[in-house]
Amino acid sequence: MNFLPEWLDVAPWRERLRASGPEDVEAALAAERPGLRELAVLLSPAAAPYTERLAQQAQALTRRHFGRTIALYAPLYLSNHCASGCAYCGFASDRSQPRRKLSPDEVEAELAALKHMGLEEILLLTGERTPEADVGYVCDCVRLAAAQFALVNVEVFPMSVDEYRQLAEAGATGLTLYQETYDAERYAEVHRWGPKKDFLNRLETPARALEAGLRLAGLGVLLGLADPVTDALRLYRHAVELEKRFWRTGISLAFPRLRPEAGGYHADFAVDDAFLARLICALRLCLPEAHLTLSTREAPRFRDGMAGVGISRMSVASRTTVGGYDQAPTDEAGGFDTTMELSASRLTASQFEVNDRRGVEEFCAALRARSLEPVFKNWDAVYRGGGT
Ligand code: SF4
Repeated sequence: MNFLPEWLDVAPWRERLRASGPEDVEAALAAERPGLRELAVLLSPAAAPYTERLAQQAQALTRRHFGRTIALYAPLYLSNHCASGCAYCGFASDRSQPRRKLSPDEVEAELAALKHMGLEEILLLTGERTPEADVGYVCDCVRLAAAQFALVNVEVFPMSVDEYRQLAEAGATGLTLYQETYDAERYAEVHRWGPKKDFLNRLETPARALEAGLRLAGLGVLLGLADPVTDALRLYRHAVELEKRFWRTGISLAFPRLRPEAGGYHADFAVDDAFLARLICALRLCLPEAHLTLSTREAPRFRDGMAGVGISRMSVASRTTVGGYDQAPTDEAGGFDTTMELSASRLTASQFEVNDRRGVEEFCAALRARSLEPVFKNWDAVYRGGGT
């Protein structure tokens, strides 16, 4: 597919990975400025026995660039209207569930609930562009959020440069837009219909947003959809390309793993904890200044173990239903009511099922127990405060 950018071609490094041995892993761990070559080696089977050493180096680098801090944020789903048919998503247009969007009053109530929890960074989400949740609606919600929160990021549908300018003027700080997979063929299979089927448009979207003046870009792949190593190499290259072009921009990377959702999609390329840990640590070595993000899709034990070991930014107390914070039933520590079993009705109403249901207080206590400091606004290390 020759219309795709040249940097998506990682075949030579994929070959290197197959041929890697212990001496290559030693060299990668000792590299002064690890890059794509080293990343391929560190993700090879030969590097599996070196995970502990890799983790120690990743932790040291994380401390050097972020101290002992973990930046916290929470997602707020504004709308579950969607015109796309992503096979892995509970909001896909063929899922039978009530569709709704938050009214301005409801947005205010949700923001107040999140503010009450002490959060300063918020991520506003919608499905694909629909008449119910269009650019004007997102801008209105951003304005409401920007009046209260230090950092307002959006994870919505791809927009034009002009539309991103409107979003920046409304007060948006950055965007999160995961490519899901950088494998164009696999992408075509799992994005069954709708605007999100346009692979190249999605690939070019973060650059459009940064060109328009947004300062932060969150990239990621949905682990489980395609070969995770190839996706990781391309994710790294995407980040490097954006850093080269928009050098004052703050980049973050995330590695969500597929979770149960209403459509019952199962991961064809399941990623286990050991590989995910190695992936996070290897990317920390190659991108020492980027925020690496871990969401509540992951289990508490894994999240606690990776906090500060590569990971520098985490979501907390997340609800993946539209709204869900204001008047939500919580346990004594402010987390989800964990006595509730996963029910079909709850799964139907959410984009996916979260794994870590701890509230802010309980999660912060767990971080402090590991001598980490939860912070509610911590982009300064990676956000250099300028344009292109
Ligand atoms: S992933 Fe996004 S675009 Fe795809 S179905 Fe879900 S909400 Fe819609």
